Order: sequence, then structure tokens, then C-alpha cells
Amino acid sequence: MSRCRNRLRQRGTFTNMKNEFYRDAVIVVHGGAGNLRVEGATPEREAAYREGITRALRAGGDVLQAGHTALDAVTEAVRMMEDDPLFNAGVGASFNHDGGHELDASIMDGASGRAGAVAGVRTARNPILLARAVMERSVYVLIAGSGADAFARAVGLEIVPPEYFDTPDRLAQLRREQATESAVTTKFGTVGAVARDPGGNVAAGTSTGGMSNKQWGRIGDSPLVGAGVWADNRTCAVSTTGHGEYFIRLGIAHDVSARIRYAGASLFDAAHAAIHDELAHAGGQGGLIALDAAGNAATPFNTTGMYRGVLLANGDIHTAIHAE
Ligand code: ASP
Repeated sequence: MSRCRNRLRQRGTFTNMKNEFYRDAVIVVHGGAGNLRVEGATPEREAAYREGITRALRAGGDVLQAGHTALDAVTEAVRMMEDDPLFNAGVGASFNHDGGHELDASIMDGASGRAGAVAGVRTARNPILLARAVMERSVYVLIAGSGADAFARAVGLEIVPPEYFDTPDRLAQLRREQATESAVTTKFGTVGAVARDPGGNVAAGTSTGGMSNKQWGRIGDSPLVGAGVWADNRTCAVSTTGHGEYFIRLGIAHDVSARIRYAGASLFDAAHAAIHDELAHAGGQGGLIALDAAGNAATPFNTTGMYRGVLLANGDIHTAIHAE
């Protein structure tokens, strides 16, 4: 690890072991981790994912450029990816076992420690906007099921018919999984964003259709504060993607923050340990993005790939899919 840090000091960016570390990052996004090579990736499709990631980074970056907060940037970056059918969030969400959609999302503000989340949403077009409304316009942190959809209507968010979220690709994925009786998907398409603003604030947001072919009102880590999302100005902002049950049991998003806050770990070491020690040793698969108020960012994963991108303070954008 110290060799990593030495090289990092020299070059500013270090890549190894499915881990990248960046300095001067302002916003980082992910579009899910998984067994991406075996899921029929073509160069065209990979290019489309990189474009989707780039659009989300630019959208979040524009919000920051206009003087808005990290929270606003995260909201906008995640909303963009929810509206992009490539990603498993919003339109393009995975199907549950019954052929419907139940969407989960969460958001957390590192400045105030406030958080909002929704689970099992069926008709709110943008679950991330609903999670933010829960944070800002209710006295609750997490609202689920028909109550979440009712709250979306009550606060005037856009409501869509459940079929709005359908896409042929996700339906084909469900059919494949049901044909092979695969209990658990190996492709995790959740989206997430972490950002920082010049005021020293960080924020994180996560949104997902959940694991494809999920049953019985299953809720993953994405809407759970501490598992799928975390933000604290004193440490970092984190958004996760992967096999949610592991992330819940290990409290992965909070684990990164706790390593920094209580053990004095660097952002890089904390993010690396959460994925490559905690998650991997428990047998879980996935990844995360983490960013601190100084602009240090890390994107570890232990799957074959994770759609991800970083916007640096100088305007440069890096996107990546596999371990590169
Ligand atoms: N973490 C999500 C879940 O378990 C899945 C994903 O990341 O795609 O619902």
C-alpha cells in the first residue's frame, strides 16, 4: 500500500487492483458493477455507457459551476442516469420476479447529516427527487411502497404509469434469468453520484431498480443509509453498487467513513479495505465510489467491471468500465 501511495504522490492518479485513486475530483458517478464482460458487451454498447456516464458528470458539473451545492449536483447527476434507459434506475430499471418494477433511492447531505430515501416505488418517474423530497419535506428518512408513491403525488413530483420503466433489454435479462432459474443476478446496474462543492460540503445519492428477478418486496442496500449511501463532511461521501444483502450486513458505505473518522485511514485505504477486505472476505461482489471534501476520490470494485467516471477540477473527464 505504501508503494501505491508513493507512486500516487508522483502522478496524482493511481490505478491497480480494480481501484483508481484521483486527486482534485469534484464529482464521481457509477452506473453499476458486475460481470460486465460476460453480459454481451460490444464496443458500441460500451461507448454508449461511457457517453451516459459523461452526460451525468457534465450535468452535475454544470450545477456546481452555476454555484449550487454538492447536494444539487448529486441530485442532477443521478436524475440524468435515471432518465437514461441504459442504466438500472428510473427508465430501464430491472424487472422484479412478477414482471413489475420496484425502485429504491437515497440521498445524503454531508453538511447537515440529513438523509432521505424511498423503497419499492412504482410510479414516481425520478426516485432520487422523491428521496430528496423525503429528506427536505417530511419528518422521515425512509418511506416505502404505496406510501412513497402517495408522497410523490402529494409533493407534486412527476407520476408515470408503471410500464414507463419497461425496456426490452431488461425484459430479456429477466427472461434469461427465469429460464436458468438464476436466483441472483451477477450484473448490478445501480447508479450513484458523489460530489463536493467549494464550501467544503460533500453529498451522495444512489438509485436503482434493484436486483433483477427479485421477489417478495425485497429491498436492497441502495435506499439504506449506511449501506448504499453515506455522506459526512468530516470524512467522505459514498455510493455503492453490488449484491445488496452483503452491503447491508456489512454497512459498507458507513464502513468507509468510519475507517477515516475513527481509525485515521486515508480515503484510498478506507475505500479499498471496505471492498477488498470486508466485502470480498464475506463473499460479496460489487463496488463503490467515494469522495472527500479535499477532492480525493476512489472507485474500488471486486467484480470484472464497474461503469464509472470522474470529473476533475480542471474540467477533465475520465470514464472507465473494466479494470484499466
Ligand atoms: N445494490 C443493488 C441492490 O442490491 C443492486 C445493484 O447495485 O445493481 O438492490
